[in-house]
Amino acid sequence: MNTQKKYQKNFSCEFFPPKTDKGAENLRKTLSELATLNPAYFSVTFGAGGSTQEGTFDTVKAIQEKGYAAAPHLSCIGSTQEGIRELLNGYVELGVKRIVALRGDMPSGMRETGEFRYANELVEFIRAETGDHFHIEVAAYPEFHPQAPNAQVDMENFARKVKAGANAAITQYFYNAEAYYRFVDDCEKLGVDIPIIPGIMPITNYSNLKRFSDMCGSEIPRWIAKRLDGYGDDKTSLVAFGEEVVTEMCHKLLDNGAPGFHFYTMNQSGPTQKLWKNLDINNRS
Ligand code: FAD
Repeated sequence: MNTQKKYQKNFSCEFFPPKTDKGAENLRKTLSELATLNPAYFSVTFGAGGSTQEGTFDTVKAIQEKGYAAAPHLSCIGSTQEGIRELLNGYVELGVKRIVALRGDMPSGMRETGEFRYANELVEFIRAETGDHFHIEVAAYPEFHPQAPNAQVDMENFARKVKAGANAAITQYFYNAEAYYRFVDDCEKLGVDIPIIPGIMPITNYSNLKRFSDMCGSEIPRWIAKRLDGYGDDKTSLVAFGEEVVTEMCHKLLDNGAPGFHFYTMNQSGPTQKLWKNLDINNRS
């Protein structure tokens, strides 16, 4: 964890683009509530090959127009160079300075017809097109990407994205802090020296969390899963336990030198506000 201690701590929040008017209204409220915490930026997810792509641009525009820093996620699978170039130009015009560069996943039933295969190719393309204009974040997987043949190959592929020009990484969420420490140590051995910021998923709903975790390969440790399962319809106890577990993990991560957090807010302000307060983030350097 030595490489991480030297970085200034960076705290950010993630949204997804709303699909309905009600969702848009909720996001405006969430944005204004979370903005009072003064995060470094708000990132906005992007659906590969799907209708949410315009939603990402519009949401990023709305955040920038309110005077906050927005960071669009940009996934490349199924995209052409021309399409990505247009989006990059649009973001430069909006004054966006930061991008989360991803491969993404093709929606089921769609064929991969694009000009990019992996995120490292997107990072290279962004650098070739826009030089150093963007601060580029990439995804990291302390518990490894579900499609990776093994841990070592996944680490080498991660290092490839960094060599292509990424400035920092945000991790998939995890509840096993040891996986993160070891991932960072292995990065050090590979000569990867960028901030690797833990992605933090507040626990508020067990069935959704279980579904996401099965898809993205994040493990819910048995002792947590059993307790969450046992709460059944008692949402109050589940949320209280989730807050306690995630707060404790975040305290340990910070004590061990994690360079900040990226909160997966799920467009809700409450859970992130609570963690932010419990961790006394605004009084940390
Ligand atoms: P890559 O880094 O390209 O890796 C994908 C797989 O290919 C891995 O198994 C890797 O080992 C392998 N690989 C990588 N490079 C090579 C290479 N050169 N040769 C051979 N194999 C290689 N998804 C969305 O659709 N929209 C989002 O907004 C979004 N935001 C995310 C934000 C974060 C912080 C994270 C952690 C994930 C996010 N995802 C998002 C999910 C992500 O798109 C998926 O996990 C996707 O499957 C992989 O994207 P990647 O950028 O990590 O891919």
